[in-house]
Amino acid sequence: MTHKAGFVGIVGKPNVGKSTLSNLLLGEKLSIVSNKAQTTRHRILGILNEDDYQIIFSDSPGVIKPAYKLHENMMHSVGEVFNDSELLLVMIATDDDEIPSELLTKIKKRKEPTFLLINKADLSNPIELNNLVEKYSQLDHFKHIFPISALHGLDRSNFVNELLKYLPEHPPYYPKDQLTDRPERFFVEEMIREGIFHFFRQEVPYATQVEVIEFKEEPKIIRIVATIFAERQSQKGILIGPGGSGIKRIGTHARKSCEAFFNKKVFLDLKVSVKKDWRKDDVQLKRFGYDNK
Ligand code: GDP
Ligand code: MG
Repeated sequence: MTHKAGFVGIVGKPNVGKSTLSNLLLGEKLSIVSNKAQTTRHRILGILNEDDYQIIFSDSPGVIKPAYKLHENMMHSVGEVFNDSELLLVMIATDDDEIPSELLTKIKKRKEPTFLLINKADLSNPIELNNLVEKYSQLDHFKHIFPISALHGLDRSNFVNELLKYLPEHPPYYPKDQLTDRPERFFVEEMIREGIFHFFRQEVPYATQVEVIEFKEEPKIIRIVATIFAERQSQKGILIGPGGSGIKRIGTHARKSCEAFFNKKVFLDLKVSVKKDWRKDDVQLKRFGYDNK
């Protein structure tokens, strides 16, 4: 039996649906999703294993103009996805169909195949979709242009077959039972961040970082202690909320996601602390794992 293997990267502006597609293809929720921009901060590898292939998907942060050191680091991980992907999926959405110019320059330099995905087809109509396909066909740089809906009705196995056509015969890069390159703690931190993005507005979710202090797996339960770091005292107050109601909502949301993810009962102990201006601070960024400069 022949075996195919390769790296497939997903890039595009914030909020077009990159993480939604990645989770759909993997059949597993590895990337957190929200209706706010810039939820994804790291590159996340998700590994799709079948007997005759292994596709390694990289979800990436949305392409933006950096305003913080944190953003510079996020854009660095977009660059990595660009370099490492044998097949690149550039994503736009019907309600945001611009490809940022930085991205376009890089796409034009690529020699490896690139697809354009026009996501959120469900929000559009056939004429509009056709116009977009026409417009981007002119660029003459995409092997395929697919209108899709990652949320409503993308045919996963058909889509995976299209990807496989562009991947080489190669032995697996990772053990075939491995789903991701990230440790369990990372996903706990992400699920807590998702709760924060879900319940809070404006600056608060962006100013927040999460760290798992303790992760103890016992036969019947996983015990987790985690700290949420805000940049300011006022943000800490908002996160805790009146009588602790804010932190309680985040905790309940994250605990449920963790229980689904680990398929086990979870006890989650959450605290809020202040780490002044961590998004601008190299030392803090490094400590929080954004050290891929
Ligand atoms: P990312 O920032 O590119 O990773 O985008 P996300 O995957 O986090 O999705 C951003 C928002 O778009 C979320 O609210 C998703 O539910 C929504 N979304 C993703 N795909 C689709 C789609 O095909 N159709 C519609 N209507 N919404 C979608
Ligand atoms: Mg995302």
